[in-house]
Amino acid sequence: MKVKNVLITGSTSGIGLGIAIEFAKSGYNLAFHGLEQNGAEIAAEIGKQYQIKTFFSPANLLVPAEISSMMKEASGHLGDIDILVNNAGIQYVSPVEDLPLHKWNDIINVNLTAAFCTSQAVWKSMKAKKWGRIINISSAHGLVASENKSAYVASKHGLIGLTKTLALEGANFGITVNAICPGFVKTPLVEKQIVDLAKQQNIPEADVIQKNILQKHAVKNFVRPEEIAALALFLASENASMITGVSMPVDGGWTAQ
Ligand code: NAD
Repeated sequence: MKVKNVLITGSTSGIGLGIAIEFAKSGYNLAFHGLEQNGAEIAAEIGKQYQIKTFFSPANLLVPAEISSMMKEASGHLGDIDILVNNAGIQYVSPVEDLPLHKWNDIINVNLTAAFCTSQAVWKSMKAKKWGRIINISSAHGLVASENKSAYVASKHGLIGLTKTLALEGANFGITVNAICPGFVKTPLVEKQIVDLAKQQNIPEADVIQKNILQKHAVKNFVRPEEIAALALFLASENASMITGVSMPVDGGWTAQ
């Protein structure tokens, strides 16, 4: 069977990198993407380690023309993208009255609009082949809200709306579209929040983790990137062909409460 091609946005850090490594272990070809300086080296190293074809793009997801070039170049290098993981995301914590409009726009553009653009770019070939997988990394914040995260929560709820709509549009063409909703994972995105909250509240970071972060989870641990990756790998498999349009929490029981 032909080796499938996977494109994962934001795959040179955190959760995206964890997902990329799981797909690499299973022999998929990978289009890496992200703003990290060492992105090209990460892609080359993983390609060598797992003997798979890789591609890397540093496209800025705030710029639709860069997204479009990335999608064309990735399929030019690897062939049509069979599995798209919209993972890249940003956060900005602020009470609504202080949230600058440009931060709101950036969060909506990276977390939601970019996922629309990448999905649109792969749609025609997935439809023609009658096979495709789109996996959107939303958040527990796609299902419930927290104060001071209005743009992020809105973007992640929006991503679930996009997931459901594309699931319906892809249903007759073998394309499944699902969302994964992680709880807290200790990545640069969350580490920054821990540092900022510790400064704001003048308490140790360990206390922030207990008081502000893990207090949301029923299971008092961080989620590990590998746990998100294992679900993504399953959603990409043949046995997941009847799972579409759903949003799956991997959140230590946060949204059960
Ligand atoms: P991270 O900061 O480690 O990685 C984010 C990735 O997105 C990086 O590769 C970064 O370069 C890329 N990115 C950010 N802005 C970009 C832009 N303008 N253009 C191109 N690339 C850009 O964060 P993470 O925690 O691994 O987050 C991955 C996804 O998981 C995000 O969508 C995030 O919202 C979601 N998520 C994270 C958590 C968590 O606790 N870490 C929880 C729920 C959901």
